[in-house]
Amino acid sequence: MAAVPGSVADILATRAGEAMELNDRYLNPQLGRIVRTLGFDRVWTGGEGAHLIDSAGTRYLDLVCGYGTFAVGRNHPGVIAALHELLDAHSANLPQIGVSVLAGALAQELVARAPDRIAAMVPANTGTEAVECAMKLARAATGRPRILYASHAFHGLTLGSLSLNGEEQFREGFGPLLPGCDPVAFGDLDALRSELARGDVAAFIIEPVQGKGVNLPPDDYLAGAQQACREHASLFVCDEVQTGLGRTGRFFALEHWNLDPDMICVAKALSGGFVPIGGVLVSAEVRSRVFDGMERGVRHGSTFGTNDMAAAAGLVTLAVIEREGLVARAAAMGELLLELTRPLVERYEIVRDVRGLGLMWAIELGPPERRRRKAVWNLVERAQPGLAAQLIVVPLFHRHRVLCQVAGHRINVVKALPALVVEEAEIRRFAAALEDVVARADRMGGAVGRLGWDMARGSAHALRR
Ligand code: PLP
Repeated sequence: MAAVPGSVADILATRAGEAMELNDRYLNPQLGRIVRTLGFDRVWTGGEGAHLIDSAGTRYLDLVCGYGTFAVGRNHPGVIAALHELLDAHSANLPQIGVSVLAGALAQELVARAPDRIAAMVPANTGTEAVECAMKLARAATGRPRILYASHAFHGLTLGSLSLNGEEQFREGFGPLLPGCDPVAFGDLDALRSELARGDVAAFIIEPVQGKGVNLPPDDYLAGAQQACREHASLFVCDEVQTGLGRTGRFFALEHWNLDPDMICVAKALSGGFVPIGGVLVSAEVRSRVFDGMERGVRHGSTFGTNDMAAAAGLVTLAVIEREGLVARAAAMGELLLELTRPLVERYEIVRDVRGLGLMWAIELGPPERRRRKAVWNLVERAQPGLAAQLIVVPLFHRHRVLCQVAGHRINVVKALPALVVEEAEIRRFAAALEDVVARADRMGGAVGRLGWDMARGSAHALRR
């Protein structure tokens, strides 16, 4: 397409270098400061598969994956083709007082992949909206007020979902949050049972693997939680916004424990990363209890919920996942990644744990024993608890062209969510790069020490204000 001045193609081709300036002026300058402090301010100009590409043409292994949205790889040609097809079809999108075919077809495909209890989908546009929807449906279906969530949960940042997030960093300044939302310790069945026993719980909402920290549940926890919910007539809801669509080596993570929830939240990867998308897969019973008469037929919904772009992207993304065998691939690549990185726990003082399921992976770090090394660590941690993980993330980016993220609740966790199409060679490259930066951080030698000092100073400026 010829670049018309002012067109999207023109902006992409000629103004990419202005991204940071535009962000700082019109979007989020504090994000800009964080990115610059870490030295991550590349001019990004493209993406392909598991990689981001900068203006110099350098490819970075992208283990943030748009926070898990690019599971089928960035700019998947099959999804692009389907979206072109849809636009060229000039479809009868969003009739609103009427129905269209693509959203129904997407619901049909998702229901076919879900456990038996699931019979329908209530569309949404994002992960947080799916969670909000599940909260509303749970209250309406049970007539009960309370929603339980696990400690360290992350379900989104709108007011309802935020009420299911115990972390002060997110909650502070936004209260009062929704009443009736109460935490229970992740993994503690007795705590859950005693809350359920009060008889006023609409639902327990849980991520099968927690995204913040990549926390895996104890063996019998999720099945036990589901059973306890059933015994007390509370709904059991799996938030698979991050874990769904193959990420953990099964289509839904809940399959690892043979769960059969009343609702499942999906979003993120479902559109191949192209358009916002979300939905709640629900049992027939939940649907019929909430939408229980014509006068209550539209009591929950959203203008863009059934839009054709999202549904088309969802349909083709499901087809790509199947055609390219991405679920099995995630399982195999995830096993390889664990096999290559688990030995770091034995080899390096600062490595406390390496864990993961499929291609949801994390390494947890702790302070070194020796005094001088510990001093650097403490300096960084005093500036901001959890910042020491950047001693791994920053050199991974600069020395090895690997983009990953910190993801913990005041603990030092580095997380990786590779695209499910990631090549074995790239997994091996990441594991080798990781060992290189972990070994350097373990010694807290010259360069890492200086980085720690710079970060402590930089973050004090960039992150506190
Ligand atoms: N639920 C889980 C488990 C998530 O990981 C996230 C986002 O990271 C959300 C909900 C919120 O999704 P969104 O950012 O699309 O609102």
